[in-house]
Amino acid sequence: MEAVVCPRCGKDDHLAGERRGEMVRITCSACSLVWDRDPAPRCPECGLTDVRPVPEPVWAKVRGNQRSIVAYKTVYLCPACDKRRLKEHLGANPMSSKGAGTG
Ligand SMILES: [Zn+2]
Ligand SMILES: [Zn+2]
Repeated sequence: MEAVVCPRCGKDDHLAGERRGEMVRITCSACSLVWDRDPAPRCPECGLTDVRPVPEPVWAKVRGNQRSIVAYKTVYLCPACDKRRLKEHLGANPMSSKGAGTG
């Protein structure tokens, strides 16, 4: 699950989640804010829930201009809005059609 931060105080280490049917009720013990969160990831653009989790490298500058992957985070790509990125992640299609002609 992606990191959840409190929308009021911005903390993420004082949160308690409690499953309530479809939703998860999150309580922030730092500022006592309570809100419901939809546990299903969805596209922020169109609200589609049919998003695909893909590992996204987290780049960090090490020395000077050199960059290096320090971690991977899971991002959810929307098949409608992030079509190009999703395609890049899926790479070359494994089901390459070969011209098999028998008969
Ligand atoms: Zn809070
Ligand atoms: Zn979308």
